[in-house]
Amino acid sequence: MTVTVQPKALTNYKARDFRMLIDGNWVKTEDGSTLERVAPGHGVIVSRYQAGTKPDAERAIAAARRAFDDGPWPNMTGAERSNLLLKAADLIAARADELAHLDAIESGKPISQAKAELGGAVDIWRYAAALARDLHGESYNTLGQGTLGVVLREAIGVVSIITPWNFPFLIVSQKLPFALAAGCTTVVKPSELTSGSTLVLGEILAEAGIPSGVVNIVTGTGPEVGAPMTTHPDVDMVSFTGSTGVGRLTMANAAQTLKKVSLELGGKNPQIVFPDANLDEFVDAAVFGAYFNAGECCNAGSRLILHRDIADEVTARIAELSKKVKVGDPLDPSTQVGAIITPLHLEKIAGYVSGARDAGADVALGGEALDLGLGQFMAPTILSGVKPEMAVAREEVFGPVLSVLTFETTDEAIRIANSIDYGLSAGVWSRDFDTCLTIGRRVRAGTIWMNTFMDGASELPFGGYKQSGLGRELGRHAVEDYTETKTLNMHIGARTNWWMPR
Ligand code: NAD
Repeated sequence: MTVTVQPKALTNYKARDFRMLIDGNWVKTEDGSTLERVAPGHGVIVSRYQAGTKPDAERAIAAARRAFDDGPWPNMTGAERSNLLLKAADLIAARADELAHLDAIESGKPISQAKAELGGAVDIWRYAAALARDLHGESYNTLGQGTLGVVLREAIGVVSIITPWNFPFLIVSQKLPFALAAGCTTVVKPSELTSGSTLVLGEILAEAGIPSGVVNIVTGTGPEVGAPMTTHPDVDMVSFTGSTGVGRLTMANAAQTLKKVSLELGGKNPQIVFPDANLDEFVDAAVFGAYFNAGECCNAGSRLILHRDIADEVTARIAELSKKVKVGDPLDPSTQVGAIITPLHLEKIAGYVSGARDAGADVALGGEALDLGLGQFMAPTILSGVKPEMAVAREEVFGPVLSVLTFETTDEAIRIANSIDYGLSAGVWSRDFDTCLTIGRRVRAGTIWMNTFMDGASELPFGGYKQSGLGRELGRHAVEDYTETKTLNMHIGARTNWWMPR
């Protein structure tokens, strides 16, 4: 039986009304229409955002273009931009509880986890601030007496930033501070399901002293607001995190004007487990990897590839531990798995489970939605006997559903791991150094965890192979991603003429 935490009604909570930030002003959309956000864990309206339109996106792009072309932001020193980012980090830390609460009620994630994400986000803003002072190019004094070469790093220009609903504040923090550190100006579109904390970030940046037009935040749907942000000729780069399908569309849209694109997309991440692994540690990591953020996580460890000799024992141990995971009220500090983002998404998750059952998989645990009186929830679910060709082993379920596959040889494990279109992250569990390194080098994914899962740090690049994305976020190159290189080829002394050699 799943341990549940009954959601408490949000009786005293007053829904927040948000405006959009365009050119330093908090504005409504022309006809005043709004999108209402129903809290997935409580079933009541908690936020109203402006239902922005294409003209709103165009106004924001024009403001960002002016702010870039006329300054002052791109012309400020790295130290000045760094100081502003540090001030923003302090203000985010000061409002972390408010921001975490907004993320928890709008997305349905547990409040304890939302607070941890805010802590991570503050660290990223500080890290980006440090990088702002270290952005530099190269010089070549080795090209002969007549030439000095200097390679500049220049801000790329206006960047469209489009984010998903599953980590609302954390993901905008993986993009915006690095774009700002480079000297770019931006138009940000948060998910229409979880825009609140990004709009509060707009207030924070205004308080920190960001010049008007440098950060614009437009709310609304993808087709209405996001699409023009990917096609408009005045946008120089699109930084997108979301589904692989919309990522593909974004790349096609950006191709019309040959914009640079950075894409962080879906994942179906394997954890490969050998018999010599520390199974106590692994079982805990498997449960964490599968149910963290209710499995609505690009990095979810949703595909276990267990050595045949240990598969039955390990699956049983994971099922036992899964029964202890607390599912329910996102605002209860003891909750570990919160609500599912929308009723429609819950149906999609349930569809994957019934499809797997029809294809011959066994439901070893859960498999059902949970009725907790308010909101929508899914029981932690384990599917055993999953074959590599089944949809549930190849596609992103984006729910608390763990698929268990088996292998006999290392080559077979690697073949199964690499047999799908995604390549975001992977885990390997073994006490043998050679085994870990072999998997680490041969599995095609942007991050490989060895004897751990889903750890991260601002210093470590993150992103996907194959259809999990393009480019990397975080790490010391993250600011460079928002720059162009420019070559200054400088001549010293008399030139050799082309038409009349001396
Ligand atoms: P989504 O692709 O539906 O939406 C993402 C964003 O794109 C939203 O803001 C949405 O409004 C916008 N959008 C939708 N249609 C658009 C269009 N035509 N043009 C421009 N923008 C458009 O994704 P989602 O459901 O919000 O998020 C879940 C997905 O995000 C999952 O696939 C998950 O794996 C992925 N994700 C990836 C990472 C990563 O770092 N790799 C991190 C988090 C989430």
